[in-house]
Amino acid sequence: MPNASFSSLPFSKTLLNNLDSLAYKTMTPVQSASLPAILEEKDLIVQAKTGSGKTAAFGLGLLQKINPKFFALQALVLCPTRELADQVAKEIRQLARCIPNIKLVVLCGGKPLGPQADSLEHGAHIAVGTPGRIKDHLSRSTLDLSSVDTLVLDEADRMLDMGFHDEITNIIQQTPSNRQTLLFSATYPNTIKKMCRSIQRDPVVIKVDETHAENTIEENFYLTNNYQRKETLLNLLAHHQLKSTVIFCHTKVQCHEISEFLKDNKVQALALNGDLDQRDRDQVLVRFSNNSCPVLVATDVAARGLDIKSLQAVINYELPHDPEIYTHRIGRTGRAGETGLALSLYTESEIERIISLEDYLGKPCNNESSDSLRKATDFSLQSNVSTLQVDAGKKNKIRPGDLLGALTKDAGLAGSQIGKINIFDQLSYIAIEQDALPKALNYFRQGKGKIKGRHVKAREIR
Ligand code: ADP
Ligand code: MG
Repeated sequence: MPNASFSSLPFSKTLLNNLDSLAYKTMTPVQSASLPAILEEKDLIVQAKTGSGKTAAFGLGLLQKINPKFFALQALVLCPTRELADQVAKEIRQLARCIPNIKLVVLCGGKPLGPQADSLEHGAHIAVGTPGRIKDHLSRSTLDLSSVDTLVLDEADRMLDMGFHDEITNIIQQTPSNRQTLLFSATYPNTIKKMCRSIQRDPVVIKVDETHAENTIEENFYLTNNYQRKETLLNLLAHHQLKSTVIFCHTKVQCHEISEFLKDNKVQALALNGDLDQRDRDQVLVRFSNNSCPVLVATDVAARGLDIKSLQAVINYELPHDPEIYTHRIGRTGRAGETGLALSLYTESEIERIISLEDYLGKPCNNESSDSLRKATDFSLQSNVSTLQVDAGKKNKIRPGDLLGALTKDAGLAGSQIGKINIFDQLSYIAIEQDALPKALNYFRQGKGKIKGRHVKAREIR
C-alpha cells in the first residue's frame, strides 16, 4: 500500500505547503495510522519504533488545535531528557513556522528557571520539557496548566524507567480533565497500561508493524584499487543518483583532497573537518542539511554531533578499521520509512577489515562489482537551492515565521520556494530555490528589506 499524502487530512493549505517544503511528501505509517484519530481529538496510545515519525504525528495534532490569539498554554509535551525535548521543540517549531505568532518554550533542567518563567509569563502556547523541571515550575507557580488542551507523553516507557512516575501523575493532576492525552512509547509494558487507565479516556491503541517503520539500510561493498578509487566514487554518485550524501574519510587531508576532486568533476561538495571555526562549521552544516549542497565530505571527528538523520546515502571512501565506527557512520542514513544506502569502497589490502566487519555484524557483506556501475561521463551534480544569510537572529528575537512572512508576503516568493530555516544567535539562514533567489536578494537590496520592522542585510553564501 502506498503511503498516504498529508492532503488526505483536513490540514490548511499553508500547513500542507510547509510540509512540502520540509520534504514530507507522504505520511509515515505511524502518522497515517494515528493522525485521523488525533485530529478527532481522541486519546491515543501509540506504540512504534524510534525514527518512525511520532513527533510530527503529535506535533501536527496539537498545532491544529492551538489558537494563537489566546495567550495561554494550550499544549504540554513531556519528554524524558533535555536532548529529546530540544529535538521535539525543534521539530514542532519547523512544523509551526507557517503559523504566525505561535510561541513555544522549552522547560528543561541545566538552564536557569528565571528566563523560562519570564517566557511563560509572556504567554507561551506550547511547552516542551522534562517532568522534573516542569514540576519545579509548578511548585513555584510560574506555570499554569489550567488551559492545556493537549497533553503529550513522549517516550513514556523511558520516562517511567527513569523514575518519573510520581512527577508525571502530579503534573497531569493539574491539567483539565477534558484534555486530550496522547501517549507515545516504544514498548507497552504493564506499568504503561496501568498508567494509561488512570490518565486516559477510551484510548485508541495503535501499534505500528515493526517491519514498516523500520529504517532499512541497504549495504553494498565495492572492491576497487587505489588508482581507481576516486573514479569509483564518482561512478557511485552517478549510478545511484545521490542527492544527499555524506562521504566519510580518515583524515582532513583526504577530506580536502576528495572535495577538491569532486568539485573539479562538476560535483558540488563541501568539506567538514575539525579545523573550521564555529561560524564556518555552522554554515557548512546548514548548507548541507538544507539541501543547498548535495555532498558533504567529513571526517569522523568533524561529523560528531552531526544532527542530520535523514541522509539518502553514506559512503565510506575507505573502510574504517573499527566495525563500530562503520555501524555508527551508516546509522545516519535511512529516513523514516525509507531505505538508506550505505556504500563502501575497499581495496585488496583492506580485506581484513571486511572480515572483521562480517564477524561483528554476524552476516556476510554484500559485494557489488565496481564495473557494473554507471560511468560518470557527462555527469554533474549541483543543487538547485541556495542559502540566503540574513544578518539577524535569536538576539533580535527573529523566529522562522518572521522570515517566512517577509519572504512570502513582502518579497513575493511562494511558500514552496522556501525550504529549511536555521536561526542562530546573530544570523539566520534560509534555503531558497535558485530561481527565486534574485527576487529575495532584490527585496533586501532596495533598502526596503525589513524583518520585524527592522532593516536587515542579506546575502547568498557559497
Ligand atoms: P520518532 O519520534 O518516531 O523516533 P521522529 O519524529 O524523530 O521519530 O522522526 C524521525 C525523522 O523522520 C525526523 O528526522 C523527521 O523529520 C522525519 N520525518 C517525520 N515525518 C516524516 C515524513 N512524513 N516524511 C519524511 N520525513 C519525516
Ligand atoms: Mg520521538
